[in-house]
Amino acid sequence: STATHWLFGDQLGPHFLTPGDPGPGPEAPVLMIEARSVLRRRRFHRAKAHLVLSAMRHRAAELGDRVTYVRAGTYREGLARAVGDAPVTVHHPTSRAALALLRTLPQVTVGPPRGFLVPPADFAAWADGHGGERLRQEDFYHWTRRGHDLLMDGDRPAGGQWNLDHDNRRPPPRGAATLGVPEPYRPREDEIDEQVRHDLDRWERDGEVSFVGRDGPRRFPATRAEALRALKRFVTHRLAGFGPYEDAMLAADPVMSHSLLSSSLNLGLLDPAECVERAEAAWRAGEAPLNSVEGFVRQIAGWREYVWQLYWYFGEEYRGSNALRHTAPLPEWWNELDPEGVRARCLATVLAQVRDTGWTHHIPRLMILGSHALQRGWDPRAVTDWFHRCFVDGYDWVMLPNVVGMSQYADGGRMTTKPYTSGGAYVNRMSDLCGACAYDPGRRVGEGACPYTAGYWAFMDRHRRRLEHNPRTGRAVRGLDRLTDLEELRRQERARGDGPP
Ligand code: FAD
Repeated sequence: STATHWLFGDQLGPHFLTPGDPGPGPEAPVLMIEARSVLRRRRFHRAKAHLVLSAMRHRAAELGDRVTYVRAGTYREGLARAVGDAPVTVHHPTSRAALALLRTLPQVTVGPPRGFLVPPADFAAWADGHGGERLRQEDFYHWTRRGHDLLMDGDRPAGGQWNLDHDNRRPPPRGAATLGVPEPYRPREDEIDEQVRHDLDRWERDGEVSFVGRDGPRRFPATRAEALRALKRFVTHRLAGFGPYEDAMLAADPVMSHSLLSSSLNLGLLDPAECVERAEAAWRAGEAPLNSVEGFVRQIAGWREYVWQLYWYFGEEYRGSNALRHTAPLPEWWNELDPEGVRARCLATVLAQVRDTGWTHHIPRLMILGSHALQRGWDPRAVTDWFHRCFVDGYDWVMLPNVVGMSQYADGGRMTTKPYTSGGAYVNRMSDLCGACAYDPGRRVGEGACPYTAGYWAFMDRHRRRLEHNPRTGRAVRGLDRLTDLEELRRQERARGDGPP
């Protein structure tokens, strides 16, 4: 078709412009809209706002004369200004809000999503066939591996096992401050970044938008070329060590062997298929062991894909889920990403990472940040919004299942079989964060009591009724009855304010 093709800011790779029907014609003119309303609506991390604007403007520069790049107050305004009522095609957007907007625009034809492995209708058929409610990521992951012939030997999983996680849960190497693996790729800023920073400064000065966190230098890819370099560097130098320490944390080495590819995948600069195929090729060439390659493939073809599918499958009401009836607001120090008064070393360290980079790996997100919010009973909607705003890779679709479901158990177990939270003993085993801390992970009451250890038992106690019949938490709940200091713990936790722990 000769219709103009509209690219959203997370549809930036070449796979969003390969011709299709419905979809862009081979020479279709392209439209991009930088809508200020998006930045006004939420208080984003500045590094995230920078990354997204930089990536959009870089893409526009690459497309040259083919693109009309509009800066407008809203999408609707930008569209009217650029094309009036003329026909427009667009690929399925990644949020329900954007989809709802498109449905109000009669001139727009919405094509299927790109940048994911499984078409939504196929997922819906699979999910309906699996009972609809008791869905499990592991089953989905096997189905996707089969369907896409990923790490398969005929119809059996390569190496004989689907999941090599038991090789991938090691605590960090004893006494090591860093993992000592080759550095990840980091981009270099250019004039476009300078212009973006200048614009953000100006808008902030004018009081038009406000941000949290620190911006710069840009740490994540903004172009296809940069993203490919990041992927290549990861697969060639870092993938081999990805698996074993995937769940470990080191204070001085926040990245360890993680790929740092999430923002590039979520901006659409990389296609998940190319990432998993390259990882598999590295294993077939003998360049990386199966536990690492399988772990990485599971993150992308399993988790990322599953989260995307559930976002659409669960429906809009999922957003308001609050099975545990948690209603406390987020405290100021948390909203401001201010680690200064935080004495719990793990939380102070991770909060500083978020403030400085807008990124931490999955265990700090789940077991330090998310776990603290869950233990304190914070409103899951506010927690979801916070993750969305403060992480460079945060988008509505990825937030809802990960935060409402996985991290806050607000869906009452549709996404996971148990709430993810722990006492300080887990943090101590999986990191070097407790050693120099003011608190003792072994203490739950009194002077030096670890807020995670106390918080864990208080959480179990508060939700005893719900958790005692769950086979994965029943034993922990029964452990409450053996605590001789339970009354003291209750008093201590009731008296705790919302100041930094
Ligand atoms: P790696 O550890 O190298 O993993 C490889 C890739 O797998 C990632 O790049 C990512 O694309 C994918 N992946 C793995 N797990 C998930 C998952 N649960 N959901 C989606 N993709 C996954 N991921 C985001 O992309 N955006 C988010 O806003 C986000 N918020 C999260 C919030 C919470 C509370 C939790 C527990 C997890 C969240 N995740 C999110 C998932 C995961 O933490 C990040 O994808 C990962 O840490 C990004 O770093 P990486 O690229 O180095 O990942």
